[in-house]
Amino acid sequence: MRLKSISILAILVCSIPVPTQCPAQQTAPPQSQSTTAAEKAPKLEHFDVSIVDSALDPCEDFYKYVCSKWQAANPIPADQGAWGTGSGLWYWNEDILRQAMQKAAQPTSSRTDYEQEIGDYWAACMDEAGIEAAGARDLKPELDRINRMKNKSELADQVAHQHTTFPGAWEADNNQTNAALLGLGQQQDYDDASRVVASIDQGGLALPSRDFYLKDDNKSKEILVKYEAHVGKVLQLAGESAQQAAKDAKTIVAMETAIARAQMDNVERRDPKNLNNKMSLQEVAALTPSFDWKHYLATVGAPPSEPHYLVSSPQFFRALEQTIQQHSVDDWKVYLRWHLVHGLAPYLTKAIVDETWQFFEHTLLGAEQQLPRWRRCVRAADRDLGMALGRAYVDAAFPPESKQRTLALVHDVENALDQDIAGLEWMQPATKEQAQIKLHAIEEKIGYPDRWRDYSSVKITRTSYLNNVHGATAFEFHRQLNMIGKPVDRSEWQMTPPTINAYYDPQLNTINFPAGILQPPFFEKGMEDAVNYGAIGMVIGHEITHGFDDQGRKFDAKGNLRDWWTPTDAKAYEERDACIVEEYTQEVPEAGVKQDGRLTQGEDTADNGGLRLSLMALENKLKAQGKSLDDKEADGWTPRQKFFLSYAHEWCTQIRPEMVRTRVLTNPHSIPKYRVNNVVANMPEFRRAFSCKAGTPMVHAKQCRVW
Ligand SMILES: [Zn+2]
Repeated sequence: MRLKSISILAILVCSIPVPTQCPAQQTAPPQSQSTTAAEKAPKLEHFDVSIVDSALDPCEDFYKYVCSKWQAANPIPADQGAWGTGSGLWYWNEDILRQAMQKAAQPTSSRTDYEQEIGDYWAACMDEAGIEAAGARDLKPELDRINRMKNKSELADQVAHQHTTFPGAWEADNNQTNAALLGLGQQQDYDDASRVVASIDQGGLALPSRDFYLKDDNKSKEILVKYEAHVGKVLQLAGESAQQAAKDAKTIVAMETAIARAQMDNVERRDPKNLNNKMSLQEVAALTPSFDWKHYLATVGAPPSEPHYLVSSPQFFRALEQTIQQHSVDDWKVYLRWHLVHGLAPYLTKAIVDETWQFFEHTLLGAEQQLPRWRRCVRAADRDLGMALGRAYVDAAFPPESKQRTLALVHDVENALDQDIAGLEWMQPATKEQAQIKLHAIEEKIGYPDRWRDYSSVKITRTSYLNNVHGATAFEFHRQLNMIGKPVDRSEWQMTPPTINAYYDPQLNTINFPAGILQPPFFEKGMEDAVNYGAIGMVIGHEITHGFDDQGRKFDAKGNLRDWWTPTDAKAYEERDACIVEEYTQEVPEAGVKQDGRLTQGEDTADNGGLRLSLMALENKLKAQGKSLDDKEADGWTPRQKFFLSYAHEWCTQIRPEMVRTRVLTNPHSIPKYRVNNVVANMPEFRRAFSCKAGTPMVHAKQCRVW
């Protein structure tokens, strides 16, 4: 259960704000290990200038100019909520993992320990007949455990049991835990990044965020009604009578709504200062006296006593006390039953899997069909054993040369930021010096971790998928808890090697690019520089800029939450950032919602800074070769133009309205259309590339710029 706040890129493929459900549930014929006919073959997208629709004007709507032909040729597959140019890579990566697991699943005597683990995990996950038979049998003792509760004082014991036995639902995109009641984990101390401390976070919801319970527009109310019906159906499938299940579903919605009301919202949660609340165990216990914290910590295996705990939201735990008091032990049993079955849903019977898909994938994200079984297994294995499984991916798809070339690109973009900082008119020398110290201290992690994680203590068998998931969950939870009180391990990665994403970690001051994203259309060995800098170069610039976005700038070179800005420079920064917030607060008509620029400002700042830095780096590189951004090349385009085309191409995406709505309400990233158009419309460099006139939509009258 990771609680650490990292700033990610979030390529929109499967970044679904629903716990454990990102791999949508689908049932394929038992033991089937072949792709279904309806599935797309894995196909990498390669950038080509012929992508543009030359009948359109780039200065009117650049996203449409670059993406409309691609969109027309690439409808969203029925089992997806969205489909973009990066999605083919997602399929391609998953195919490599599948092949590795299928091979390892052959029970030969020459299998290594690691092959035994990934092979048997695969075999158990693909054994749908076995899972169907085990479903009710495995669930029953877990339900019985809850039903034996006599007193609310046993709540902590049961929550501890649930937290250690099924995957903690933690959503990277909105930094939120959805586990029963609360989340426990480790993180670096905000004030001393060399130390790892225990952190306690708000939690307790099954819907993607508090807004889903509290907003009172018609669409929100309609979804909540459907959610209540869904809860009732799942409880019925878990053995309750129809009447009882309907009554219990009402109780769940009431309890979760009270919990939602107590939660800090996702805009406030962006500011680390709001989360930096150090409390002793006695103080934590005083917030929620009805929850036996001491017993909870001892039962999950956390260190018995720490000098302090980081409590993200003391107010939440104060309010939770009221909710515990206001509900009977029977209500709490209902709550725990629901969270148990919901959390385990992907590993249970087809009927529960189907019902969960119906609400979380179809209603919330618009998918029309479930994903094939094997994809679900690949994604679950990536979560449970990903730091060993990733080795197969690296062997197959990430040669040392890719690592070297990416590192060189990273250095080029870092040099561009150095140059940018030196030239800033609004920043004074004292702050510039600190900014450059921080920039030079950034550590780059490329591809995969230095050491492969040892999963040998996790017991993986072919006989029970659910037990494999339990074992892997307990392993990871305890691995995290074991870090508490120790010096920070700087080699930790928050993403597995095949992941198509990237992140900046403000407390380690590292930028991290998994091997999974260092492939087309983001990076391609044989492509010209303009194309690579427009795609992966921007991603690199995006992550570097996170160290200097509205929250990242609050951390120093060592990852401590320490203000290194002069008051004048901080004020100048905030004025510039306010321009971004205003610009990105805009309607998303296709989903009937409004994007909140306060939620997306960190990512928007990173997008704007990232593209500019990458263009500067490209210009430097061309200059060193005696070339310029504006040389017309044989294909009729200039490097400057191709840089922007490649950038837009990387974000070409189609998203179902249901998914747009869910994303806008929960995700700190702007939707792809705005990630492209708002950024280019802020850049005189873009205007020059396509000779756009003042007053055209892609030349904003007020061009925002932070970096
Ligand atoms: Zn980001």
